Amino acid sequence: MPVSPRPFTLVCACCSWKETILPHSHLAALSPDTCFCCPECRSPSLERREASRQEILRTRLDEFFILNK
Ligand SMILES: [Zn+2]
Repeated sequence: MPVSPRPFTLVCACCSWKETILPHSHLAALSPDTCFCCPECRSPSLERREASRQEILRTRLDEFFILNK
């Protein structure tokens, strides 16, 4: 059985920006080699870590409200 992709969070090392990516999101389809840059300060120093339960829940809620506007 294939391992399902796990949600992850991108965190900027230079400012406080962060974004949680869920596996079904279009962003999650990007290859791991894709160079992410911070949309706030344009820094390429983004760290990728496993998303916490709280971040996953929050992102799901955000998507729900975006889709139901
Ligand atoms: Zn930044």
